[in-house]
Amino acid sequence: MPDNPAKLVPAVSSAPISGSLDPLTCPLFGLDAAGLATVLTSVGEPPWRASQLIKAMYHQYLTDISSITTLSLELRRQLAAKGWRIGRPGIAKAFQSVDGTERYLVNCLGPKLETVETVWMPEGDDGEAGDGSESGPGDEVENLRSSDAKSWRRATICVSSQVGCAVNCQFCLTARLGLQRNLTAGEIAGQVISVLARHSVRVGRDRVNLVFMGMGEPFLNYDNFMAAVRLLVREVGLSPQRMTVSTSGIVPGIERFVQEPPDIRPKLAISLNAPNDQIRTEVMPINRKWPIAAVVDAVRPIRLRPHERITFEYVLLGGVTDQPEHARELARLLRRSGLPVKVNLIAWNPGPGIAYRTPAADSVETFQRVLAGEGIPAYIRQPRGRDIFAACGQLKRTIEA
Ligand code: SAH
Ligand code: SF4
Repeated sequence: MPDNPAKLVPAVSSAPISGSLDPLTCPLFGLDAAGLATVLTSVGEPPWRASQLIKAMYHQYLTDISSITTLSLELRRQLAAKGWRIGRPGIAKAFQSVDGTERYLVNCLGPKLETVETVWMPEGDDGEAGDGSESGPGDEVENLRSSDAKSWRRATICVSSQVGCAVNCQFCLTARLGLQRNLTAGEIAGQVISVLARHSVRVGRDRVNLVFMGMGEPFLNYDNFMAAVRLLVREVGLSPQRMTVSTSGIVPGIERFVQEPPDIRPKLAISLNAPNDQIRTEVMPINRKWPIAAVVDAVRPIRLRPHERITFEYVLLGGVTDQPEHARELARLLRRSGLPVKVNLIAWNPGPGIAYRTPAADSVETFQRVLAGEGIPAYIRQPRGRDIFAACGQLKRTIEA
């Protein structure tokens, strides 16, 4: 056990730790510079050594204190003797798709054996970055550089925020798991580092986007989610402009999010999924609590960066939300919002026991055309890794069933 736990309140991990400093729940991984400095001070070392731990864990992707050769052997032994370990979540199982997508079950760090899904998607689709933003100027230069050594030019990592989810969207497999628990900041950031390590990603040189669109509702685990973002931006060096968080419309979370400083705030995506409150309540019962107007009102105060838009995700459910009149109604709704928007259209991915239909291919295209005709930019998101249980929550349910 680390000495004197009560004094140690690391900034990043304060939410997940919530007072307990059992090394099992408080590994070094997940602590920011201030937290690591406090650990070092507690073992009589100067706080500046935190930068050595940061480099080892977040840049060199080391997973074992004994391999941090910038620390003296004595200090490595001392940290281990006090109960400290790196404790990064690890990839338990990996599944590779023919399209290059890899899906992982990543081990959580709690006492119970639990996993979440994380996905690696090399390349974007159709000129779009995996996060739904269009390729920007400068990308080609960057792509050229990274393609020298890699088989991918850019990639997107899809990250989970909770084990399961409490929100109960009727079309979503993760909902069937119910909420098991929130992930800690270290468990959220750990998914990212594990995947960066697996693909030898050089942050700052390779182009990587993050989407917080895996299992769970990030805004129902707000503190840990934002602590993970701060860690990934400040200590790992990833850009918040290449991160997108998706929410089902948790208004109190959105209200906090729009106040986050722009140098740390990811882009925002709202899972709208329906053109009006009636259909939305049917497919997303959470809409009873926070209807569309309340969600839009909560987004409005956001201070957008130049060229930034709010993404509205729209899952097309065959016969339920995929008709041209739905597209027209959606366009009216988005125009009325007055927000700079774009729409990501996602054909529903079927899952066992869920009684919706996938939309016909031509209805997805028609939907996009209608939106475009109404002046709303819309992109069709290609399903990735269909052969490896692509629907969110499907991998975990299928493998662990
Ligand atoms: N809980 C958050 C983020 C995770 S879900 C949210 O709901 O926004 C990420 C996206 O996947 C959401 O837009 C959701 O509507 C969509 N989604 C969930 N299940 C799906 C399925 N079976 N097929 C296609 N999209 C799905
Ligand atoms: Fe939860 Fe998102 Fe699935 Fe809804 S769509 S149940 S909010 S993970």
